[in-house]
Amino acid sequence: MAKIIIVGAGFAGHTAAMTLSEELRKRKSSKKHEITVISRQPKFTYIPSLIWVGIGEMKTDKIQFELAPVYKKLGINFTVGRVYQVHPDEKYLWAEISNNEKIKFDYDYLIIATGPLLDFSATPGLGPDKGYTYSVCTTSHAEHTAVKYSELIKELEDGKEANIVVGTGHGKCTCQGAALEFIFNVHFNLVKRGLRKQVNLTWLSNEPKLGDMGVDGIEVEKGATIISSETFMTGLFESYGIKSVIKSHVNKISEKTIGYETIEGDINEIPYDFAMLLPPFKGQKIIYIDQNGTDITEKVCNPDGFVKVDAVYGKKYEDLNGSDWPKTYQSPVYHNMFAAGIAFATPGPMSKPGISPNGTVISPSSPRTGYTSELCGIAAALNIIDLIDGKQPSKSASLAETAGICVASMHNNILKGNAIIVGIFPFVRDREKYPEYGRDLNLSALDIGVSGSWIKLWLHYAFLYKLKAKPFWQLLP
Ligand SMILES: Cc1cc2nc3c(=O)[nH]c(=O)nc-3n(C[C@H](O)[C@H](O)[C@H](O)COP(=O)(O)OP(=O)(O)OC[C@H]3O[C@@H](n4cnc5c(N)ncnc54)[C@H](O)[C@@H]3O)c2cc1C
Repeated sequence: MAKIIIVGAGFAGHTAAMTLSEELRKRKSSKKHEITVISRQPKFTYIPSLIWVGIGEMKTDKIQFELAPVYKKLGINFTVGRVYQVHPDEKYLWAEISNNEKIKFDYDYLIIATGPLLDFSATPGLGPDKGYTYSVCTTSHAEHTAVKYSELIKELEDGKEANIVVGTGHGKCTCQGAALEFIFNVHFNLVKRGLRKQVNLTWLSNEPKLGDMGVDGIEVEKGATIISSETFMTGLFESYGIKSVIKSHVNKISEKTIGYETIEGDINEIPYDFAMLLPPFKGQKIIYIDQNGTDITEKVCNPDGFVKVDAVYGKKYEDLNGSDWPKTYQSPVYHNMFAAGIAFATPGPMSKPGISPNGTVISPSSPRTGYTSELCGIAAALNIIDLIDGKQPSKSASLAETAGICVASMHNNILKGNAIIVGIFPFVRDREKYPEYGRDLNLSALDIGVSGSWIKLWLHYAFLYKLKAKPFWQLLP
């Protein structure tokens, strides 16, 4: 019998658990093996819809569900707890559950799928807990943002004018797509309320170019023309009256101003009344201890705490190829251990990094979407089954071989809604295979329209249906 533990029940971990349960059921060997999920929260959160929660257009109960009944149905053990220490030589880990109780779990195979640690401490004044800005990264953050947004709306209705700033709160942030969705939703929400003219809306980000989104931008073929996401986004910003400040590292936030340094090394400030700035991400704090009791976290993880997998690490941005990206998500140090979703260490950024004359790094980190996180989770699960069968891991979900698909909401409305549809193949540019652009432009899409908002809503409900393991969930992509 094999004991498999999955740490984290987000897109990567939950999908890995469902895949393992389904594959072992198909092989009629589910009773022989034990799958356990340990996750900090009892509920799954559909994070992409948090941007709607953040402006009060959706309630949290529409984007969450209890995991325990789903895991009961699938024959998966579930513990709500925080894993804080792993002993990979002896194959056990420690988790802290409620009342500070600590439980030891033995395993044969392990998947780390713990998502990001939201590093608000990287910038003084950043974030809702110890700073002045808001966030939509968690349910409590998004709910708090909605309350503050509605207070601002009341002031605007009383005739006040306001500066709203949305973007990234540090030079190394990722997830620009989520912040873009938020700024567009704020724009359309203000238009709907007749308050847009009272607001200065500013996009403040670390991207090297507008529309970069941390994926080094996008090109699509429209007839005989190649359109870049930079041109596309510049047009949208102009037509919606959104100002932009890019190539910038936010370095200090006070109650009234956001301080930032540009790639040219200039130090500036923007006054604001309301700001939603994403934090940079780090790996979750899990300590790895070897059989001698030595802390080997630095061997297992990169300096930011992300788990190293089968990628080629240490190359410069200019030298990185698609083939350097991980395929199986297996740890090179412990072969029974995998990392999926945001928890794995990427070989480097996808967008060109910059450095200011003051030595400040302004470089978007590589994003991972819900879809790519699911793909890694599935690959990790199937590769564990290979190992159980005595084979080498054979399932590849390299981000340089898979598509990146994202629908960025702008305005959630069935009749008048709007969303940007983004499709790229491969997600990570592979200049060895596609010398001109690093991607296959026949398989790239960048469009905007009401149909995008239908797809976005459909994705919301389809994902939640599938992730709740409702009848025929296996048929949904
Ligand atoms: C505001 C926002 C909007 C987004 N919009 C989109 C979108 O429109 N489309 C899209 O594709 N992607 C979107 N993304 C990105 C997407 O949400 C992520 O790619 C995805 O959530 C990553 O999945 P994950 O499983 O790696 O991490 P997560 O979803 O963060 O899950 C991590 C899990 O690990 C648990 N955990 C953490 N630490 C521990 C520990 N020590 N012990 C036990 N459990 C632990 C957490 O509780 C959680 O259950 C968005 C992200 C944000 C922040």
